[in-house]
Amino acid sequence: MTFSRGYRFELKPNNIQRAHLVKCAGVASFAWNWALDERQRLYLEREGDERFTNAIEQHRRLNILKKTDFPWMYEVSKCIPQEALRNLDNAYLPYRKTRKAGRKVRLPKFKKKGKTRDAFAFTGGAIRAEDTHVVLPRIGRVRVKEPALIDGRILRATVTRDADRRFVSFTVEHEALDSTPPTGPSVGVDLGVSHMATLSDGRVYENPRPLQSRLWKIRRLSKELHRRQEGSSNRKKAADRLAKAYWRIGNIRKDALHKATTQLAKNHGEIVIEALDVQGMAQNGRLARAISDVGLGEFRRQLEYKCRWYGSHLAVAPRFYPSTKRCSSCGHIREGMTLSERTYECESCGLVLDRDLNAALNLVAVSSTETLNACGDLASTVPARALRVGSMKQEVNAGILHGIGG
Ligand SMILES: [Zn+2]
Repeated sequence: MTFSRGYRFELKPNNIQRAHLVKCAGVASFAWNWALDERQRLYLEREGDERFTNAIEQHRRLNILKKTDFPWMYEVSKCIPQEALRNLDNAYLPYRKTRKAGRKVRLPKFKKKGKTRDAFAFTGGAIRAEDTHVVLPRIGRVRVKEPALIDGRILRATVTRDADRRFVSFTVEHEALDSTPPTGPSVGVDLGVSHMATLSDGRVYENPRPLQSRLWKIRRLSKELHRRQEGSSNRKKAADRLAKAYWRIGNIRKDALHKATTQLAKNHGEIVIEALDVQGMAQNGRLARAISDVGLGEFRRQLEYKCRWYGSHLAVAPRFYPSTKRCSSCGHIREGMTLSERTYECESCGLVLDRDLNAALNLVAVSSTETLNACGDLASTVPARALRVGSMKQEVNAGILHGIGG
């Protein structure tokens, strides 16, 4: 068995590609209008069920006409008129269904020129998604705004235009997934800046190399921003550059996160992550935290759907769970830990451990008590719920009282 899923990316075509896309849209609406006109004519000419035609018949007739009457249609992929005819067929479906019931249904209309929106579709094996580009028949590689990461077989690509922006939507068929959920051990995952992700079993996913240089660039750009006079046009320019750099970082991170989330969802029965601190994100201007939070939102989004695919559980630690400040060995809470401290040193039991690993261990400690099935309502914010285990409960409450984050 298979299931299909949609993906949508914004296209960044060059001028030649843009002109070709305009041509494609033109051919699609021409084919639609030609076929609709033929259907309306046939309806008047014929009687009974003979009145109706279908996309396959129309495509055969259009192909003959193409050679003599519409040779310019050859400039675009042959699937474009074909898909337009198929769309028209589908547009007639509700009409044909309700015709017998005697109810009135709106019939398909002609496509008019000069609309701000249009759409056409490609099918076939030539369509590919290649990270920074997508490959479309007859057009070739077109840049996309965000990495186009798809696992599965692309069945169809629909290109839509909304004013000046163009998007491609893929219908992707996924292999039937193993119905038995992964049985691997629970794992806690701490997302950071120095390492992308640290797992409670000691494994580390490193940041992709381009990210490091971008981080350096962000530091430089944010310094520059603060040097500029408030309200000046130079400050606005600097802010734009910084926003762009952040956006690029987000994309690089997203790409790297895909590898990690797939491995996690495939191999672990339960995955525990920290809660996304949306309020703290807005208030905390600190660079490192902001970047790791950007990753956390995307990490969680990917894990949510991948856990659904593979049947694993995604658990989110309570909102104010002090995963960074808590000692994973004795449960002591250490106040005043700064971001630069890379090692957790417990004042109570003497534990010395990598900061991120300590946090990941604290997260996996939550797994047996706070479980949220990935199929459940993860979209809503997870409330700060007290843990049920006695000793841990106090720590969580202490965290809330002092208003400290994870
Ligand atoms: Zn300790």
